[in-house]
Amino acid sequence: MSIRRFMINSRTVCDGIASLDGDVHNHMVRVLRLVAGDSVQLADEKGVVYSGVISQVTKERVAVGISSTLAASDGEPAAPKITICQALPKGDKVDLILQKGTELGAHDFRFFAGHRSVARIRDDQLNSKLERWNRITSEAARQCGRNDVPIVSWRPGALETARDSDQKLRLILWEDERECSLKKVLTAQVQPVSVSVAIGPEGGFDPQEVSSFSQNDFQPVSLGSRILRTETASIAILAIMHYIWDEI
Ligand code: SAH
Repeated sequence: MSIRRFMINSRTVCDGIASLDGDVHNHMVRVLRLVAGDSVQLADEKGVVYSGVISQVTKERVAVGISSTLAASDGEPAAPKITICQALPKGDKVDLILQKGTELGAHDFRFFAGHRSVARIRDDQLNSKLERWNRITSEAARQCGRNDVPIVSWRPGALETARDSDQKLRLILWEDERECSLKKVLTAQVQPVSVSVAIGPEGGFDPQEVSSFSQNDFQPVSLGSRILRTETASIAILAIMHYIWDEI
């Protein structure tokens, strides 16, 4: 079995021992049933990665003896940071997008109210939604062994989302685009440091939204002749990009 990686706080490491409780303890001991003698990797909020062996397991704590430490970026080329700009979809599709997108390496998620979004969020619900959504990415990151957690944020609409984008490559997935395929754009492109991808709600983008994104240098691209559901489009684009840019 491959060695699992867990997110920790750097404060838990002292004198070559990481002393872990709470969620990490629960995940290691109750979910994965790790025991003393198992090898693990730990990654802290500064991107430092530790390799070590579990030396002790109690009801509340796991002690890991650290055998080596390395900076996360050592030797690894930086993968493009992919921002998913997603018009709010219905119901639990948000959860699906966040969970699968985190597994597939999204850097962050920005939701916005699309003109044709059926789902609505009242101002007084926003904070608790954001808290919940950020918990989902945090849990998914832990589960898949990522050492960073994608941030989930909110923008009021397409225009605000488009204006707030400074990524090197910006794409809008548009079901009515006929000329420009995703493959054409991605294969013609050297690996960018950052990418932003806008995805419409169930009812798609309206022309005004497409024009807001275009005016802010988002290039309309097609994912082919079949119309994908909004959550499928979001998940597919991450898998495709990571494959093309050698992450998979
Ligand atoms: N209701 C629309 C489809 C919306 S699909 C219709 O029937 O025409 C939801 C979103 O997924 C779209 O706004 C787009 O961002 C993305 N999407 C789905 N299929 C796509 C495709 N073939 N090409 C580009 N984008 C697509």
